[in-house]
Amino acid sequence: MQNAMSKKKIVVIGGGAAGMMAAGRAAESGAEVLLLEKMERPGKKVLISGNTRCNLSNARDFEDFICMFGRNGKFLYPSLRRFSRNDLLNFFAGQGLKTLAEPDGRIFPASGRSSDVVAALIQYMSQNGVKIVMESPVREIEASGGRVTAVCTAMGSYRADAAVLATGGASYPQTGSTGDGYKMAAALGHSIVRLRPALVPLMTEGTKAQSLQGISLKGVRLTSFACRAEDIDPALIPGKDCGRGIAGRKIRLPLIESRTGDILFTHYGLSGPAVLLMSLAVADALEQGFASLTIDLIPKKEHKHAEEELQEMLNRYSSRLVQNILEDLVPSKIAVSVLAEAGVSGQTRANQVTAPQRENISRILKDYRLDIKGPRPLAEAMVTAGGICLNEVDPRTMQSKLIKGLYFCGEVLDIDADTGGFNLQAAFSTGYLAGDSAAIHG
Ligand SMILES: Cc1cc2nc3c(=O)[nH]c(=O)nc-3n(C[C@H](O)[C@H](O)[C@H](O)COP(=O)(O)OP(=O)(O)OC[C@H]3O[C@@H](n4cnc5c(N)ncnc54)[C@H](O)[C@@H]3O)c2cc1C
Repeated sequence: MQNAMSKKKIVVIGGGAAGMMAAGRAAESGAEVLLLEKMERPGKKVLISGNTRCNLSNARDFEDFICMFGRNGKFLYPSLRRFSRNDLLNFFAGQGLKTLAEPDGRIFPASGRSSDVVAALIQYMSQNGVKIVMESPVREIEASGGRVTAVCTAMGSYRADAAVLATGGASYPQTGSTGDGYKMAAALGHSIVRLRPALVPLMTEGTKAQSLQGISLKGVRLTSFACRAEDIDPALIPGKDCGRGIAGRKIRLPLIESRTGDILFTHYGLSGPAVLLMSLAVADALEQGFASLTIDLIPKKEHKHAEEELQEMLNRYSSRLVQNILEDLVPSKIAVSVLAEAGVSGQTRANQVTAPQRENISRILKDYRLDIKGPRPLAEAMVTAGGICLNEVDPRTMQSKLIKGLYFCGEVLDIDADTGGFNLQAAFSTGYLAGDSAAIHG
C-alpha cells in the first residue's frame, strides 16, 4: 500500500462527466484527489443531457465512432482504446447501473434517468476517497519552472502535484460551463482554437421560416450550400445523405451537408435534430461568405415523379382549390408559402393551374430554400466546438506538452461530435485517461 505521505496530490477542476471520472480514476490509482466544483452540485450538464435520459455512449463500430468527431477524431484513439465503450458500460454495471442500447445505437441508462448516471459517478468517487468541494470556482492554476504547483480559488490555494482541467465548454452556462478553463489554460501559454457553437439551431434571413413558426416536419431532406439560396444549383443536391460521420462520397463546396431528419420552424428560423447536426458546418461556411438550405418537403416522391403526381392529383380533383390539394402533401401554412413562392393563388381551381405553374409548385416542394443568417448563440449550443489546441496535448496521457502536471479532459478540448452519445463517451474516456495518467506520472 502506498504511504499517505507519498501520495500524489491531484486537484481536478470541474465536476462534470469528465472531471468526476478523472477524479474517481486518479483516486482509484492511488492519488489523493480533491475535486473543486463551481456549482452547488456536480454533473448539472449530465443531468439535462439526452432530455434527462443521458445518452451516454453509442454502439457504433470503433472507426465509425471516431469519424463522428471529424478531423480531430484521431486524437481520441488512445483514450477510447484505454477506456472503451465496453469499459464504460462495464464500469457503470459495476456501479449497479444497467445500460441499454436502442435500435439506432444510442445507449442510455436502463432506468432512463440521467440522475442515476451522476449518482454512479459520485459513488465511484466516494468509494475511492475523493474529497469534493462544491461552490468553489477555480480562478487560476499556478505553475513554476514549467510544472503545476497549485490550484487557486477565491477561498485559498491548494498545493498540487497535478491539476486536471475538466471545466467543459462554454455553452449552457447555467450548468456551470462558462468557459473558465480556456482562460486558465491560455494563462499558462496554451492556444485556444476559436470557440464556435455546435449542435445549435440556425437563424434564417427574412420572414419565410418565421411565418411557419411551430410547424415540425418529420423525415424531410435538408441540404446546405455555401452560397445564396438563389444561387443553389439543383443538380448539386445529392441523392443520398452526406456529411460528418456519414460514409460515402467526398463533399465538394458549395455543397456542405445533406441529412434526412426532423426539423422545426421557430420564431428565429430552424431547429430540430437534422438542423442541429449540420449547424457547425453551416456556421463555418457562413464565416467565409454565404450559406443556405434547401428542404425537400416531399422526400418520398422522386423528383421526376413529383410533377406527374401533382398533375394526377390536379386532374383527379379538378374542381378543388389548389391550396386544399397541396394540404394533402404538406401542412397548410407550408402549402400557402409554396403557392406564394410559385406565384399561384391558393384559390385557383385545380383545372385552372397552368403547366408552368404546376412545374413551379412541384419544383418548390422538392427544393424549398432559405438563406441562413447565422447560428444561435454559443450559450444555446449543445456542444462547444474549438477549445484547447490538441497539438499541445499528448493524446496518450492527456498531459499538456507545455506544462508538466497539467492534464485536460472532456469538452474543454478542441473535440466535438454529433449527437448520439459520442460527446459523453469522449468525456468519460479522456477523463479516465487523464485521471489515470495524473496519478501515475503526476
Ligand atoms: C442540453 C444538452 C444535452 C446534451 N445531451 C447529450 C447526450 O445525450 N449525449 C452526449 O453524449 N452529450 C450530450 N451533451 C453534451 C455533453 O453533455 C457534454 O459534452 C459533456 O457534459 C461534457 O463533459 P465535461 O465534463 O467536459 O463538461 P461539463 O459536463 O460541462 O462539466 C464541466 C464542469 O466544470 C465546472 N466548472 C466550470 N468552470 C469551473 C471553475 N472555474 N471551477 C470549478 N468548476 C468549474 C462546471 O460547473 C461543470 O460542472 C448535451 C449537452 C447539452 C447542453
